[in-house]
Amino acid sequence: MPAAYDGWVTIELINTGSELLLGRILNTHQQWLCRRLSDLGFTVDRQVAVPDTGPAIEAAVREGLSRADLVITTGGLGPTCDDLTRERIAALLNRPLHPDSTVADNIARYFAGRGLAVPARTQVETLVPEGATVLDNRHGTAPGLAIEVTPNPFRAGGTCSRLVMLPGPPRELRPMFDRQLVPLLTQWFPDANGFQCRTLKTTGIGESAMEERISGPLKGLTDAGMDLGFCARVGEVDVRFAARGEHAAQQIAKAEAITRDRVGASVFGVEDETLESVIVGEFERRGLSLALAESCTGGHIANRITNIPGASKVLLAGYVTYSNAAKIHDLGVLPATLEVHGAVSEETVREMVVGAQRATGADYAIAVTGIAGPSGGSAEKPVGLVFIAVAGPAGVMVRRQVNRFDRETFKYLTAQQALMLLWTMVRGVPGSPS
Ligand code: ATP
Ligand code: MG
Repeated sequence: MPAAYDGWVTIELINTGSELLLGRILNTHQQWLCRRLSDLGFTVDRQVAVPDTGPAIEAAVREGLSRADLVITTGGLGPTCDDLTRERIAALLNRPLHPDSTVADNIARYFAGRGLAVPARTQVETLVPEGATVLDNRHGTAPGLAIEVTPNPFRAGGTCSRLVMLPGPPRELRPMFDRQLVPLLTQWFPDANGFQCRTLKTTGIGESAMEERISGPLKGLTDAGMDLGFCARVGEVDVRFAARGEHAAQQIAKAEAITRDRVGASVFGVEDETLESVIVGEFERRGLSLALAESCTGGHIANRITNIPGASKVLLAGYVTYSNAAKIHDLGVLPATLEVHGAVSEETVREMVVGAQRATGADYAIAVTGIAGPSGGSAEKPVGLVFIAVAGPAGVMVRRQVNRFDRETFKYLTAQQALMLLWTMVRGVPGSPS
């Protein structure tokens, strides 16, 4: 029996598959496994993708085992000639392969359930390296395999490492990880790294401005070992705290409180939340309704809102009023307003938002009108100019922005600004009608 584990767990991930290196498929295992492991308190120290060749797989595993407590491989457990993982790892670790009758039964059942004969080539999937634990595959045929490498001949000191082989298809790998590997991880590493991570989702402040405002106040915590990270994307910055050890939760809670104190108005959510998900959630909770009047975003805001389950309880209507005629007909914008001020103006956006609210009876409405470009701008109204309005019980708020980007980014960012304005107004209204 290998000794109980007493330290930080070092994990390396090896994704096999020539298709990954030819750019034919995206390596989703890398993201999925790293995320799952970090949610469980582990961190992956190194990840590599290798082609489906024996020498490449062998070299990667040998190298991984020279450093890591746990090596996870993905792919190459199937029946075809490019599936070499099981065979090459068994050879590397000097473990003879023996046919396993339980695995053979599972495979026979899998094909019988589909009314098919067992293909001869799947025989190879019944082979299990000596001493390996079988991880059942409930969604395919090739089982996963877990091996305790004790002593580990590739690591100085020969201490124990573990090696886990998972199948390539995501629909097989994911349930296998959750149902079979997680219990093994808990058993192998009962005092896991104690790694914790928290992400605050923010909008309205750029990443360098964000860093300037919070890195000083958080210095005590970062000096004490907490990691502070920023991830910028269009219209958003994620602020990430990560810590290990017995004080991890405390450090992260303190960092969150300090950050909310400094930039709380920009924090709209945590972890995987989006502006649209927090808005739909808040509207649903408070029994509020929403209407949209979109010109330059062409329905993008409606798309984002309707991607969220529960949107039907919140969104009453989304108008895409691209032409002046539609703005007049659907929203009641005055022809004189369009003539005097133009379609892209504060006056027009105000009439659009009020018109959408009036037409639907919604508690809140958003309207946007702008010049996406690349042509159509002028000195007074440059390409990227956009007016955003939100109407609510407290009145109408209008923002003028210049979002000079490609059309797709322009739409995304404009939607982001509109949703943030709505979020600010909704949070600013105390009490709830429900
Ligand atoms: P099979 O029995 O299907 O051959 P396998 O364990 O041998 O499974 P691979 O042949 O390496 O696995 O991959 C099977 C399929 O799984 C690939 O065609 C691909 O669609 C998917 N896949 C493999 N690796 C990855 C990965 N890293 N990210 C996303 N998908 C992957
Ligand atoms: Mg395969």
